[in-house]
Amino acid sequence: SSFDQMGIKDDLLRGIYGYGFEKPSAIQQRAVLPIINGRDVIAQAQSGTGKTSMISLTVCQIVDTAVREVQALILSPTRELASQTERVMLAIGDHLNIQVHACIGGKSIGEDIRRLENGVHVVSGTPGRVCDMIKRRTLRTRAIKLLVLDEADEMLSRGFKDQIYDVYRYLPPELQVCLISATLPHEILEMTSKFMTEPVRILV
Ligand code: AMP
Repeated sequence: SSFDQMGIKDDLLRGIYGYGFEKPSAIQQRAVLPIINGRDVIAQAQSGTGKTSMISLTVCQIVDTAVREVQALILSPTRELASQTERVMLAIGDHLNIQVHACIGGKSIGEDIRRLENGVHVVSGTPGRVCDMIKRRTLRTRAIKLLVLDEADEMLSRGFKDQIYDVYRYLPPELQVCLISATLPHEILEMTSKFMTEPVRILV
């Protein structure tokens, strides 16, 4: 299987090939199509499998850049991972004019407010800062159609459970959810049954 056969828009395909990818990794082969087709997906995968790139390219495919509102929200356990996802998305989405903002602790809130006011399509952040921005009404959630929970088990280990549930409460009811986790303990399965509808399960 190849990226050409996935129904990916031309400007995004150019970005994927331009980034140096020739063919999809195992997780990309199995997760990209269901996500692009609107399914909820649980992917059990470690880092290094191409999961960050998988998230980046599916988000780029789903977001409509003509709509200047946040349409996809990616939550990650660390500032580093949230920034890494932002970088990969900007690189792969090079020909799309997609606006991505990393909403992470340790950076000035003023900068977050300015960027979000200017209109971004995607927010990649840590649960604490994202939750804060939503409660301040700086991060508008009404147009969000996709929530990605990356390294979900790691987010729970770091004590972000309440913030994740908090964020979820502010998101529209018609929400697509994608969860990536190395392990699937009880607390994760609880979350998937609350947030997801008939998820596709993928083990890489
Ligand atoms: P990730 O898990 O997305 O951070 O990917 C791990 C490493 O594999 C990174 O160096 C990526 O650039 C690389 N990678 C991811 N997907 C592909 C692909 N389809 N082809 C070649 N390299 C890839």
